[in-house]
Amino acid sequence: MKPSPNCLPELPALLAFGAHPDDIEFGCGGVIARATRSGCSAHFVVCSRGEAGSHGSPAQRTAEAEKSAALLGATVEFIELDGDAHLEARAAHAIKLAGILRRVRPDIALAPSLAGNQHPDHRRLGQLARDASRLARYAGVPELRASPPHAISQLLFYAVTPEAEPADLARVLIDVSPPEIVAAWTAAMEAHGSQTAARSYVELQLTRARLNGLRAGLGHAMALFPSDPCVHDSLAQLGRGARHF
Ligand SMILES: [Zn+2]
Repeated sequence: MKPSPNCLPELPALLAFGAHPDDIEFGCGGVIARATRSGCSAHFVVCSRGEAGSHGSPAQRTAEAEKSAALLGATVEFIELDGDAHLEARAAHAIKLAGILRRVRPDIALAPSLAGNQHPDHRRLGQLARDASRLARYAGVPELRASPPHAISQLLFYAVTPEAEPADLARVLIDVSPPEIVAAWTAAMEAHGSQTAARSYVELQLTRARLNGLRAGLGHAMALFPSDPCVHDSLAQLGRGARHF
């Protein structure tokens, strides 16, 4: 992976897209915590203020997301697309996201999975992020000519809920076991108090990570789903498989 100017030479810079103010933290917050504490940069792009949710005002949810991103060592920006619960997969949105990829120039992008059985904004944002990753590479898109093309190394999908885990993609497990990582991730999730007061979201995510961890002989692990096959220079880079029982 090529070095990024945003972080240490061997570490990838991350950009995570979220449809709602808490998606990134619940879907891949442990991975972010582990990365930033290793010296990576991470930037969040949140595409609504959760205004269609059952709990919390847009202002409250914005403040929660800002606090949560800070706890994870990430920066965050909010963008306007179609609004919460109204997101459509449109070329103009993909181009807008491609422009952000060209500005931030991450190595790795994270986005919600394309699985059907979840909030429709998640699925559509995943689609838009995949399209944006492609358009960011193309030199001839007129709206993007202000900044040079940028090719990310990987687009990784995260699953906000168990139902959103794509059955058709292989998973990679990221070890988030160190206690300080679990603590930072937990604090970031708990920062979304308007949501965690209503349902056991934190317990759900920690339990999912614990199950992944147990399957891999680890404490906690989070699953990510590469949009494209991972390329390795040799078998030695593959790491081990997750079968532990
Ligand atoms: Zn959401």
